[in-house]
Formats: sequence, C-alpha cells, structure tokens
Amino acid sequence: MGRILEGKPVADALKSELNEKVAALKSKNIEPSLMIIRVGNREDDIVYERSIIKACSQAGIAAQSEVLKESVTQNELLQIISMANANKDVHGIMILKPLPSRISEEAVSALLSPEKDVDCISTANITKVFAGTAKLYPCTPKAVVTLLKHYGVPLAGKHAVVCGRGMVVGKPLAMLLLSENMTVSVCHSKTEALTHHTRNADIVIAAIGKPNFFGKEYFTEKSIVIDVGVNFDENGKMCGDVDFESIKDYAGAVTPPKGGVGAITTAILISNAVSACEEQTLNGRIN
Ligand code: NAP
Repeated sequence: MGRILEGKPVADALKSELNEKVAALKSKNIEPSLMIIRVGNREDDIVYERSIIKACSQAGIAAQSEVLKESVTQNELLQIISMANANKDVHGIMILKPLPSRISEEAVSALLSPEKDVDCISTANITKVFAGTAKLYPCTPKAVVTLLKHYGVPLAGKHAVVCGRGMVVGKPLAMLLLSENMTVSVCHSKTEALTHHTRNADIVIAAIGKPNFFGKEYFTEKSIVIDVGVNFDENGKMCGDVDFESIKDYAGAVTPPKGGVGAITTAILISNAVSACEEQTLNGRIN
C-alpha cells in the first residue's frame, strides 16, 4: 500500500471495467443513457454537469441535460421527473442539488424512480442503503469504499471512525462500512474527545467541511486517513478537512486533498448509470 492514496488509479480501474460492460450492452444494441436535470444556472452546477457529460462521452454513454429556469415550480419539476421516470430510453436520472428552497427535496426523493436514481437520493434507495440491500449506491460513500478496497486496506473486523453525520457522506458511508463488517463509530460536532476516537481507529474518514481541521494530533503512525472534505482555505486554495502537509509523512496512509476521493465519484456515478441500464434492459424490468 502506498502512503498517498491517489484516486486516479482507482477511477482508471473502474473505467476499464465499465468499458467492458458498455461494450457488452452495445453488442445487444443497448446504449446506456443518463438525463441530468438542472434548475437554474449556478456556476458550480454547470461545471459539475460538464464533467458528468464529458465522463459519459468517454464511457460511451449518452447524456442529455434538461435545464429548467430558476423560477420553475415544484409541480413543473415533478412533471419532468415523472416523464423521465416513464421514458424507457432514459436509464439514469441525476438531479443537481441543492434545489431552490421552495422545492421540497422530500417530494423529489419520493417521486424519483429508484431504478433510475443514479445519485441514490430516492427514499427507496436510501432505505436500501441502510438495510444493506442497495444496488445503486451514493457516489461519494461508494467512492471511499472502492478506494479502500483498491488499495487492499483490510476492512472486516477493523474500526472505522467517520467524522461527520451528514446525509450525503457521513451517515450513508457508515452504513456501507458496516456492510463491509467494520466496527463503525460516527463522530460529529458534539462529540467529546474527538482526538481520542480518531487516534484509536484503524481508518479515519474526515467529512466535516472544515478546512485543514485535522492535524497530526488526531492520528497515529498507523492511521489510514481518508479525506472527503472539499473546502477552500483563507487564500482561496482548495483543501480538504485534513491538514495534508502535516500528516503526509506521518500517518500510515492518506488521500490527497486534490485527486483523492473526488477523482472517483464521477466514475461511480457512471457505474451506477451502467448498472441501472443493465438492470432495466438485460433483466427486462422496464423495457
Ligand atoms: P454536512 O451535511 O454539512 O455535514 C457536516 C458534518 O460535520 C455534520 O455532521 C457536523 O456535525 C460535522 N461537524 C462539523 N464541525 C465539526 C467538528 N468541529 N467536529 C466534528 N464534526 C463536525 O456535510 P456533507 O454534505 O456531509 O459534506 C462533508 C464534506 O464533504 C464537505 O467538505 C463537502 O464539501 C465534502 N463532500 C465531498 C464530496 C466529494 O466528492 N469529495 C462529495 C460531497 C461532499 P453536526 O451534525 O453535529 O452539525
């Protein structure tokens, strides 16, 4: 295992697996297809959308964007989702979030077809993640587990400390690690003696959204440190939750703030789109 756990080799391995799956689908005249639904013109949504479309094109997947005006009503958005749910030429649906506050994310999660929900936001899929029966996984938590497995980090029976209990990363990741037979502790802003917990873990996952929060004092020479945080420091430079410079030559292994977990998440999204397509076509569930 290398000391720096880069995301690119993991994403590359995933992509070559996907190439084979896409080729197998295309040999049966099936082209996986993803619909991205964007409300408004937020710069970060547009950047993310472009990166998804590029990744789809590299993977041989069709991608289309449905762009709705910022003032779209909840009913109009729900109608678009219903149409995408019913469209058998669309295998995956990705709704860029956050949605405007007047739109109920709960109503969106309840309506979105679980079979097409490649970002794992639907009520049914979140329930399956907690039950350990999911077929489509939330992208960032799945990226963390895929990275750990790629680098051969032992999981079963080991102790993971997940810092952060958000619904996007912390909570679903805790469930995925439990499914890997890890012993999991979840820490948050009210946790006492956080250093005690992190220093006693085999694997620490930082997902709190605080720039360079975790310094050397949180770890030991054996710690495997996975930094999920995406933040900007006081100079506007992108950084993680972990103070990478102070621990990179100290901890057992650590992901870099750039090119770590984030480099894998889009590949997981594409992998979910391909799985959704396989499920809907080869298993005859929708077509
Ligand atoms: P979130 O929902 O805001 O959750 C943050 C969590 O951190 C909360 O549970 C909070 O505790 C906890 N926390 C805050 N300050 C803390 C402290 N001092 N000590 C311990 N825990 C503390 O955030 P999120 O959506 O899960 O995202 C977490 C980070 O991951 C962010 O930096 C985000 O940008 C990043 N992210 C990265 C990717 C990727 O692909 N790499 C994807 C999604 C998110 P309370 O519950 O007590 O408030």
